[in-house]
Amino acid sequence: MNTMRAVRVESCGGPEQMSVQVVPRPEPGPGEIRIRLSACGINLIDTYHRSGLYPLSMPTGLGCEGAGIVEVVGDGVDDLIVGDRVGFAMAMGAYAEAIVLARGAVVKIPEGVTDEEVAAGLLKAMTVDYLFNDTFALSGGETVLFHAAAGGVGLIACQWAKTIGVRLIGTASTEAKCELALSHGATECFVSGSVDVEDRLRACAPAGYPVVYDSVGKATYRMSLGLLAPLGTFVSFGNASGPIDAVVPSELALGGSLYFTRPTLATHMARVGWMQASADRIFELMQTGGLKVDINQRYALDDVVRAHRDLEGRRTTGSSLLIP
Ligand code: NDP
Repeated sequence: MNTMRAVRVESCGGPEQMSVQVVPRPEPGPGEIRIRLSACGINLIDTYHRSGLYPLSMPTGLGCEGAGIVEVVGDGVDDLIVGDRVGFAMAMGAYAEAIVLARGAVVKIPEGVTDEEVAAGLLKAMTVDYLFNDTFALSGGETVLFHAAAGGVGLIACQWAKTIGVRLIGTASTEAKCELALSHGATECFVSGSVDVEDRLRACAPAGYPVVYDSVGKATYRMSLGLLAPLGTFVSFGNASGPIDAVVPSELALGGSLYFTRPTLATHMARVGWMQASADRIFELMQTGGLKVDINQRYALDDVVRAHRDLEGRRTTGSSLLIP
């Protein structure tokens, strides 16, 4: 078959801008492979690409995370064969039946790990890996604040923190989401919209948090800044409620010589050898039971509009998949 079904966005905007179209099935060039996708991960970043918050040239495909079976091997690729199972993160065009990627952009999936776990969890777990090991390196024993603790990245962060002996204090929008975060290893989790949430978060770290991992952005920035200990680090890694308006240096001074950083997974993936090393850490955690990827929503490719509405409407927990 030289065609395939893929999600396309004609111009940026709401979920209705996405449609499933029949497009040419891409052919791999030298150094590339074609993957027949078993599952495509859904990430909040996909909504930023669709809406134009992170600008892309239009029209475009969508989706950054997936897993499947090598279907065609391009010239010069000598360590993969047809039928191998592979996964990827931070590629573009994963909402499709097939994708062509450079060999260097994929990792082989080991025994004991499923395609769906990789499609639903690789990008999110790599994010937690760099947040906890590079952006603010945790050694165990710290008490950290992590917003949106019941989301895709969030539930992985809860488990990872528990594995390394870190007390993760979370927030989430409902009691049910908080219960989920707690059952995945969070030490405490508070409803983000409750009147006393700030007091309760402060009570968990009276001297302040050494680090706040904040992917909610606009809605939580001020509160998060005020909860940091002197010399604490504000890690802004997402914009679920909208981007932070402005970072004012004098406020970092008043908070006690605070650090502010805005890291991206792409920066870490560009480091030589990092992607494979991170995947190895994640696969080992998955194989030994230290990390379970919760696939709590599954959608057919044709239901992509509903999938984005659910994610943006805060109706999801854990990870979501599109099944092509
Ligand atoms: P999630 O599954 O965590 O979904 C986003 C969650 O954000 C929602 O479920 C919701 O949880 C919370 N949220 C808070 N305020 C809002 C709002 N106003 N509208 C919508 N959601 C809101 O998504 P992902 O796991 O895909 O990603 C989590 C975050 O991490 C995202 O912000 C994403 O951009 C970021 N990210 C950053 C990366 C990086 O390298 N910088 C890489 C990967 C992800 P609740 O209902 O509990 O509030």
